[in-house]
Amino acid sequence: MNYYSTKNKELRKSFQEAVKEGLPSDNGLFMPERIPQLPKGYFENIQNKNIHEVAFDVLKPFVEGDLKDDQLKSIIWKTFTFDFPVRKIKDNNYALELFHGSSFAFKDVGATFLALCLEEFYKGKKDKCTILVATSGDTGGAVAAAFSKVKNIEVVILYPSGKVSELQEKQLTTFDENVKALEIEGDFDECQQLVKQAFLDADLRNQLNISSANSINVARFLPQMVYYFAPFIEFGKEPLTISVPSGNYGNLTAGLIAQKMGLPVKQFIAGANRNDVVPRYLDSGQYEPKATIPTISNAMDVGNPSNFQRMMDLFSEQELKEKVKGFAFSDSATLEAMKKVYAENGYLLDPHGAVGYLALAEFMKTSEGKGVVLETAHPCKFMNVVKDVTDENILPDSVQALMQKEKKRVKLKVDYQEFKKFLLN
Ligand SMILES: *Cc1c(COP(=O)(O)O)cnc(C)c1O
Repeated sequence: MNYYSTKNKELRKSFQEAVKEGLPSDNGLFMPERIPQLPKGYFENIQNKNIHEVAFDVLKPFVEGDLKDDQLKSIIWKTFTFDFPVRKIKDNNYALELFHGSSFAFKDVGATFLALCLEEFYKGKKDKCTILVATSGDTGGAVAAAFSKVKNIEVVILYPSGKVSELQEKQLTTFDENVKALEIEGDFDECQQLVKQAFLDADLRNQLNISSANSINVARFLPQMVYYFAPFIEFGKEPLTISVPSGNYGNLTAGLIAQKMGLPVKQFIAGANRNDVVPRYLDSGQYEPKATIPTISNAMDVGNPSNFQRMMDLFSEQELKEKVKGFAFSDSATLEAMKKVYAENGYLLDPHGAVGYLALAEFMKTSEGKGVVLETAHPCKFMNVVKDVTDENILPDSVQALMQKEKKRVKLKVDYQEFKKFLLN
C-alpha cells in the first residue's frame, strides 16, 4: 500500500517510508491511497473470530509490500496482549474498555504497533533512530512503555514541569537505557516548540535520524481500527452507535476508516469538552480553530485537531455531517455524569469516557439499538478528579509498585541549544 499527502495526492510513499518520516514535508498528513474492503459476509460469523485474526485481516492490506505475513502476525501478537472488554453501563449503553494496556490508556495500542514497526524497519541497519515526543501527559507514558525494550531506537520525551500528574510522571521517568525523560521548565507548547525546532534543524538532522511518535504517524492511527471490531465480536453483526471522546481526532478517524472498510457502524458520535471546534463545525460548517482551553479531560484539550485534515480528506462536508454527530460538555456536566453513573449504575467513568458517555446518552434519547462509548483511559490516571466521585482505592497493583520506583529525568530550561547539546551527547 502507498500513502499520499493530504496536501499533495501525487506524492507516493511506501508504508515503511511513511512510518519512518512521520509527516510529509509539505505539512500535510499521510493517507492510504485506497480503503480496502472486507469480504462480503465478513460479519456473519464475526463472533467466531478473535482479535488477532481480525487485526490481521484489517491491517494486512495497509502494510502490504513492507511487512511479510509472519512479521505482521508477530507485531500483532505483541501489540494486542490485553483484552478490550465490553461492560454494560445502563440499559442499551455499554463501555468498550481500551485501557487494560501498560500505561492504562488506548494510546498503548498505537504506540506499541509503531514501536514494533520501527524496530522491524531498523533491524540489522547501521543507522539508529531517535524518537522525539512532547507530551502533555498520556502520550509520553504510552510511548515510554512501548519503546522501552526496542532495539536500535532511542526515545526522548519532553514533558512540562509540574503539569503532568504524579502517576503520569512515573510512567515517563522510570524506564532506563533507551527511554530518556526531559523535564522542561515550561509548558506543553514550549516542549512542542523545542521538538519542532529540532525537526527544522538541518545540522542536527545531518548527525541524527530523528522521527516522531505523535498521533500523526500512520502506524499509530491504523491499528486503532482493530478494537472497533471488539463489540461486534461480542454482540454479532447488528449495527451499533459508537461514541468517541475526542481531542486530536485520531481515534475517530480510525473508526471512520474501519466503517469505510465495512464495519457496520450505524452512527458515530464525537464527544468533546469545551474544546469543541469539531462539534461546532458539524453544526455550522465553519471550522474555526481556537486557543486550547484547559479542562478536567485534559487529553482532549486540543484547539486545532490535526486529524480534521484526514476527516476532510475522507469525506465531503455533507457526508461528514451525516456520519458524525458532535456534542460538547462542560467540566461540571462531566463531573456530574461521573457521580451519577457511579451512584446509580456502579460504573466508574474516567473524565474522558464521561464526556463520551454524555454524548452517547444525548444521541440515544432519539435513537434505538445498542450504543457503545470508548472508555479511553483507566480512571486511576485522573485521581485528582476521581477523588470527588469516590474515595475507594482504585489503584491497580502495578500502579502501586510503579509509584515506589525512583524517577530519573534531566531538567532543562526552555533553551534550544541546551536541548540540542543533550541530543548530540
Ligand atoms: C489522547 C486521548 C483522547 C483523545 O484521542 P484523540 O485520538 O486525540 O481524539 C481521549 N481520551 C484519552 C484518555 C486520551 O489519552
